[in-house]
Amino acid sequence: MLTIKVWENDMKCPGCIKEGKRSKVFELGTYETLMGWQTYYDEDGKFHSHNPNDRSTQYRCTNGHMFRQTRRAICPTCGSDW
Ligand SMILES: [Zn+2]
Ligand SMILES: [Zn+2]
Repeated sequence: MLTIKVWENDMKCPGCIKEGKRSKVFELGTYETLMGWQTYYDEDGKFHSHNPNDRSTQYRCTNGHMFRQTRRAICPTCGSDW
């Protein structure tokens, strides 16, 4: 199972990219881990939302590759860099 991290909306199968093939990609389901967390305001009054729960979506392409995409939550102050 391949795991890729992307932020764009475009979705191509990483296995097919490697093999130079084209395919349609079907979404199988989305999973979210359930960890407790809190938003907070830092010493400068900036809002932080560090959600540790990765959203993981599983896909299968028409050539039979399975792969998973995880997206990390974005903090309004730190962006994706936290
Ligand atoms: Zn594929
Ligand atoms: Zn932050």
